[in-house]
Amino acid sequence: MVAITEDDIRSLASFRGEDAPVTSVYLDVDGGRHVRFQDVVRSAELLLRGALQKHDGHPSVTADLQRVQEFVRGGIDRSHTRGLALFSCSAHAFWRVVELPVAVRDQVVVNHTPYVRQLEVVVDEYERFGLLLADKQRARVFVYELGEVIESTELLEPLPRGDDVDRSYRRDQVQNHETALVHQHLRHAADVAFQVFQDRGFERLIIGAPEEIANELRSLLHPYLQERVEARCSISVGATVDEIRQAALTVEAEVMRRKEAELVSRLRDAVGVGRLGVAGLDETLKALVERRVETLLVSHGYTHPGWRCPSCDHVCRVGRTCPVCQSEMHGVDDVVEEAVEDAINQSCDVEICVGNADLDVLGGIGAILRY
Ligand SMILES: [Zn+2]
Repeated sequence: MVAITEDDIRSLASFRGEDAPVTSVYLDVDGGRHVRFQDVVRSAELLLRGALQKHDGHPSVTADLQRVQEFVRGGIDRSHTRGLALFSCSAHAFWRVVELPVAVRDQVVVNHTPYVRQLEVVVDEYERFGLLLADKQRARVFVYELGEVIESTELLEPLPRGDDVDRSYRRDQVQNHETALVHQHLRHAADVAFQVFQDRGFERLIIGAPEEIANELRSLLHPYLQERVEARCSISVGATVDEIRQAALTVEAEVMRRKEAELVSRLRDAVGVGRLGVAGLDETLKALVERRVETLLVSHGYTHPGWRCPSCDHVCRVGRTCPVCQSEMHGVDDVVEEAVEDAINQSCDVEICVGNADLDVLGGIGAILRY
């Protein structure tokens, strides 16, 4: 499976259905929730039937929904795929399938552009990160991307057992010898981690090591890695791959929530002093139209109908006449999604915040501004 990147989403989001709308379908195919494949097919059929009724009559959309249905019936390899994102615009022969190793929410959106918000959430949540686990004689380095291990390396440097040591050694000499060996091992572990970083690259590093060696290990890391250390965890170096994956994803989620909270608090302060921050749908859309947005923050699940001008691309909450060029605007089901797309196209950072009550209080949407 090739992981989808921010660039892929940008390129997807830039497609425009000129002659017909784009049908975007997200399907939860997770084996935990849908044990039998037949259950996946049935729930997809229900979802697509509902969409067909809602958009009845548009030949391109009807063809899109049929194609998705056929794709699902054709079978899905669910060993690594837990979510599917499908984008179709039959009138333009446009068709993209994105297999995701993480779950998505069932959803069908018909719009003039691909609906990329759930993809954005996934990529946003699961950046590539490294995990370095160590004890006094063993070290393991993993790199995760979208919840999957893409690299794993191991280092084993056994310490001499007590009975191997010459009896004539004094206890403190043995102790010193062991300390030196552990130091050397941690240095090697740090080197291995740096090698993996150079080969694969990752944004953040999580360290799991017993208290007595954790600080030493950290101090031995290359400066590039030191500045990427995001968290410590209590995963033991001998844990199973599955345990490690679960624990790593939990730490990763905590790190994301913390980052989101920091951004929201920055936004709240900026809004509070009335400088470099806006909150609420109207103000945020205005800032986007003016291209002043640095980071767009949106509460996961927040939607609102609105309008988009076909001539000048203006987006706003209230229609129908465009306040900029006086053209008649098109109604859109979700102007929040339009805002996310515009932000992506303007190369702003987009943060979809999950369960952040402070952002909800600010109106579910806001932006940190460049000027
Ligand atoms: Zn306009």
